[in-house]
Amino acid sequence: VASADFLIHNADLVLTCAGPAPRRGLDQNNAGPIAGGAVAARDGRIVFVGTTEACARSIPVAADAFVIDAAGRTVVPGFVDAHTHAVFAGDRRDELRRRLAGESYASIAAAGGGILATVQATRDASELSLVDESRPRLAEMLRNGTTTAEVKSGYGLETRTELKILRAIATLDRTQPIDLVPTFLGAHEVPPEHARNRRRYIDCLVDEMIPQAAGLARWCDVFCEQGFFTPAESLVILRAGIDAGLQPRIHADELGPSGGVNVAAALHARSADHLVHTTSAGVDTLASGGVVATLLPIAAFYLKLGRYAPARDFIGRRVPVALGTDLNPGGGFSSSMASAMAIACFAMHLTFDEALVAATLNAAYSLDRHEDLGSLETGKLMDAVILNGDPIGLLRLGSSPIEMVVKRGRVVWTS
Ligand SMILES: [Zn+2]
Repeated sequence: VASADFLIHNADLVLTCAGPAPRRGLDQNNAGPIAGGAVAARDGRIVFVGTTEACARSIPVAADAFVIDAAGRTVVPGFVDAHTHAVFAGDRRDELRRRLAGESYASIAAAGGGILATVQATRDASELSLVDESRPRLAEMLRNGTTTAEVKSGYGLETRTELKILRAIATLDRTQPIDLVPTFLGAHEVPPEHARNRRRYIDCLVDEMIPQAAGLARWCDVFCEQGFFTPAESLVILRAGIDAGLQPRIHADELGPSGGVNVAAALHARSADHLVHTTSAGVDTLASGGVVATLLPIAAFYLKLGRYAPARDFIGRRVPVALGTDLNPGGGFSSSMASAMAIACFAMHLTFDEALVAATLNAAYSLDRHEDLGSLETGKLMDAVILNGDPIGLLRLGSSPIEMVVKRGRVVWTS
């Protein structure tokens, strides 16, 4: 047996969130607890998960190994944020202040704010400044325990800038600890220069942008919502993505029932996201298509949508539920997966275990990275978060129990 070069032992509790992925239905309510647990790794991969006693019996530890005594602590998998728009230029925090004072998003957008303000700032930014502006956001996500995150383009809405964002994501992936999963979201909105001929923008997406994005992105996404992209347009765009080697995922039913769930099921998309307005029939549609429901309760909260996705219906009908933060410059105001879990528990009525599995294993499955990460299991990456005390402390908004973040067998952040 090769010896471990990294060891966490004596933990009060290890929550493995072990697969098989995804966990759905009643199985989602099991975070795989091991009391008195240990996790050992070598070269960044887990070689043992079990009790500290069994670890001491079976796993030799190298003399120069990095050893953490986790007495009084809980160990959970590194969080996987399945939906972010974390790479953008500019700042729209003032819009939050205006919305709180009663101004509508429509009036802010008409005055040059909203998503198009971010598009303008991102078009104007150099690739280097885009990377530099986004780096602190990723550092904050890391402090919040996120070790893998999906990041979308979608603030260019033209070939040059969309590719610039995807290259910035690739640079950030190489130069900070969080693993980034890139998604092409050229179909975030129709840009103003095509507003009077949206067909031309869709042709541009299909004929020009998607083929060029294919070398840089893994996923293709569409904002399928009334006033943005129709289900028929979404099908055309996502099929072009599939032809270019990009797996489909979709924004659906955030602002109203959009028909996006039918698109997701028809394409067997891995994930449909938001789903705030998904009907009972829509839940069945996702179940029949084998689609993951990636829920973003932080967005519903900050946008004051007044309702949340029907998470209990998804779990009741065996649709795997995953979580993301939807970190973005408009309404995605928190990068904390623990906050997403807290709202998921207290507004969408998940149990703690269901929320933790949603934030780890099922989020990894939503990104098709579950073979490599999302749980503490032998063979997977040694990505973990060490918490002070009872893991329920994760649900305390504004008070983080996170003491240490581990990525690929290296401590990358300590409190
Ligand atoms: Zn989004």
